[in-house]
Amino acid sequence: MPALDAILEEKIAGLVAGNRFREPRITARSLAVEVLCEGKKLQSFSCNDYLALSHHPRVIAAAQEALGRYGAGAGASRLVTGNHPLYAALEQELAACKHTEAAMVFGSGYLANIGAIPALVGKGDLVIADKLVHACMIDGILLSGAKLLRFPHNDVEACGRLLLQHRQHYRHCLVATETVFSMDGDCAPLTALRDVCDRHGAWLMTDDAHGLGDPSPADIQMGTLSKAAGSYGGYICGSHTLVRYLRSAARSFIFATGLPPATVAAAAEALRIIREEPERKQRVLDNARLFTRLMHLPEAQSPIVPFTLGSEASALQAAQLLEDAGFLVAAIRPPTVPEGTARLRFTFSSEHTPEQIHLLHKAMQHAGIGA
Ligand SMILES: *Cc1c(COP(=O)(O)O)cnc(C)c1O
Repeated sequence: MPALDAILEEKIAGLVAGNRFREPRITARSLAVEVLCEGKKLQSFSCNDYLALSHHPRVIAAAQEALGRYGAGAGASRLVTGNHPLYAALEQELAACKHTEAAMVFGSGYLANIGAIPALVGKGDLVIADKLVHACMIDGILLSGAKLLRFPHNDVEACGRLLLQHRQHYRHCLVATETVFSMDGDCAPLTALRDVCDRHGAWLMTDDAHGLGDPSPADIQMGTLSKAAGSYGGYICGSHTLVRYLRSAARSFIFATGLPPATVAAAAEALRIIREEPERKQRVLDNARLFTRLMHLPEAQSPIVPFTLGSEASALQAAQLLEDAGFLVAAIRPPTVPEGTARLRFTFSSEHTPEQIHLLHKAMQHAGIGA
């Protein structure tokens, strides 16, 4: 039998040949929109820290205070001794943000999806998901053993047709989508999806990982604390009953250690700032829209603006040209996005200045990318 490494070297060679090999680069973020990437200072249009809260002095102070008071680690699962007092404050803030009765914090967004979905559906149940939902929603569905059907991106009528045709053959049915799509920056038609779910007796679940903290009409509102909230962790918001049940049924909640206290304190402080300073959200959207206006792209609906190039090689080359000009912009390739839609993914922050965005646009023109 060939040795493990020999087999893996062959697999790696295949990834390299297809421009799909990935390696993390050492990137230090000392400011929310500026990074030191392998010794080079770059303006970042690649972070999901949309409201620049990861570096907010109040967020840092809250984390430091919790670290001093409760130590570096949680020590155990939340159901054992890891449920330090800061969790209650964070879950209250979350429920208030999302206008739900209750909230429940997981170790990450990924853990929330792979824990909650199999707790809610299983064999004999049906999940109907938007074609573009995130990998961890898909993983949660596959783990659940429920039947998975997909509808074309944001096509509510197609979702309704699948419900009409298949709903009756299954016990429970869950419709899954994102509020803001992570690689496209567009938003789901939530009111229409809510309506079609009600008509066919299906539950609606939304992944709000890239939202800015607004409520959705879903029964199960999943999200992360690692993007707009600038910290780490995932959550599910919904009814008291949903949360009470999931705490005893979601395996990624039961069998994983609680988050470090400093992380929980940072997230709670960030949510308070989002509530107190709503103008931060407006600044992000204004920045993204300045860019789409300059680039003659459809108006941004969120902090995320994709620029599709097609092949892996062309996306990598465009990202390199921008990097040479001092901008960090992620090249996103399959399987993160569908075949033939490799792209640049720009993300905007409340802390970008209009001057930086004009300079980015000039760099695009100079590199011959887009208008
Ligand atoms: C990032 C992301 C997640 C995972 O959240 P983490 O907290 O980073 O694990 C889930 N869903 C979507 C759409 C995401 O973009």
